[in-house]
Amino acid sequence: MKVVMLGAPGAGKGTQAKKMAERWQIPHISTGDIFRANIKAGTELGAKAKEYMDQGLLVPDELVVDLVVDRLQQEDCKDGYILDGFPRTIPQAEALDAALEKVNDKLDKAINIDVPDENIINRMSGRRACVQCGATYHITYNPTKVEGKCDACNADLILRDDDKPETVKKRLGVYHEQTQPLIDYYAGKGILSNIDGTIGMDEVFHSIEKVLGA
Ligand code: AMP
Repeated sequence: MKVVMLGAPGAGKGTQAKKMAERWQIPHISTGDIFRANIKAGTELGAKAKEYMDQGLLVPDELVVDLVVDRLQQEDCKDGYILDGFPRTIPQAEALDAALEKVNDKLDKAINIDVPDENIINRMSGRRACVQCGATYHITYNPTKVEGKCDACNADLILRDDDKPETVKKRLGVYHEQTQPLIDYYAGKGILSNIDGTIGMDEVFHSIEKVLGA
């Protein structure tokens, strides 16, 4: 199953993508996580990406597309994958389709998790990320067992720079302008499913299971 997750930053794509990857035993590929891992490791790609990320802007397409296309060619992707945070622009979506077509392949589904802007701003200010493993939580909707500590590795939790309110507003603007057009793009290809993302996390997951027929 080859699935693309769509939705505004903070709509809950990452959380759902992780659950889906576990449920269907396929890789969860998050470009945001890949960039953050590169920043942490001090790579050249990380340094370039950080300049854009800290301003709430998208990393240029040419830094993203090859990275993802290479990743999809790895052995663990042959039975499917969940793409989270990619594509984020029409040129990225076209490049992905072209790369898949070359190997006679295509996406099965694009799932759009729909959450209004006002809910997003509210949600993002409560989001916390682990400094060590990058796991994300929410102080109200998805709290850790011990306040301020990651459930997975017990490291400290922080409010990421790109989740701060000024940056969130900027990211939402970028989302509407550059990423939202992908909803029509995938609707036009007949593979789009819209899911109400304002309901609880478990209900959202059930809706996803339904649209994937699982
Ligand atoms: P995310 O964790 O998916 O919200 O991504 C965090 C940040 O990484 C975004 O705000 C962008 O700056 C950058 N990023 C992640 N994926 C992409 C992508 N496909 N294209 C461009 N920039 C990206």
